[in-house]
Amino acid sequence: MEKISPRGNKIPAASAKPRAASLAKALTGQEGSKDEGSKTKPVAPKRTRQKKPDPKIVREIFERFQAAEPHPKGELEHVNAFTFLVAVVLSAQATDAGVNKATRALFAAADTPQKMLALGEDKVRDYIKTIGLYRAKAKNVILLSQRLIDVYGSKIPETREELQTLPGVGRKTANVVMNNAFGAPTIAVDTHLFRVSNRIPLARGKTPLAVELGLEKIIPDEFKQHAHHWLILHGRYVCKARRPECERCIISDLCTWPEKRV
Ligand code: SF4
Repeated sequence: MEKISPRGNKIPAASAKPRAASLAKALTGQEGSKDEGSKTKPVAPKRTRQKKPDPKIVREIFERFQAAEPHPKGELEHVNAFTFLVAVVLSAQATDAGVNKATRALFAAADTPQKMLALGEDKVRDYIKTIGLYRAKAKNVILLSQRLIDVYGSKIPETREELQTLPGVGRKTANVVMNNAFGAPTIAVDTHLFRVSNRIPLARGKTPLAVELGLEKIIPDEFKQHAHHWLILHGRYVCKARRPECERCIISDLCTWPEKRV
């Protein structure tokens, strides 16, 4: 079947199958199709799949993502680093599309910390009232604008430690901002990435931090800059939580999730 990238682009079939077969052998130590051995007693996947994945498999996965989408981008609309930071803060437990709808007007009215402060919490709240947790988020947007002015000369700080001192900014938000605004090879683990990494598996973990640190160890440096975008887009559009679309997944032959649908 034809393979489709997370954004719907067709992927050339090329010689993926034979290569995949040998890579799958490297990963599982078994020959043959994925159905072989299905009649044997199931082995608890948790114990057998704790090992670090084969580096060749990891590289192959990211090579395919790169071939499908060489320059992946996040989907939050923004006009500068400040508005990007605000958009990421607003996106907690909300969809990017929902955030974009609200921020188009907000950012037209205020695209700097000073303008945001001048707008005031009540008006910010009105602009973003379609977004979940909007009251707390409006408060944080004003507080972080104030802190940017008071402490950072209205610039966005570049380190995780500094970013995390801003109201509403946790580790994930800091990682997203460092990656998108400053080109740092950080990996921001959201719900999609957490699920995908545990399923394939790449790095397994019970917390986002465990997955982030695990991924940092196994992803080759040349893929780190875009890794979280590829994995988030893959989780959002293909490896969905309830009904993953394994039949059009470009890494289905490398994925060892027992519940995959191909
Ligand atoms: S095969 Fe299915 S479960 Fe595995 S990564 Fe692809 S979409 Fe996800």
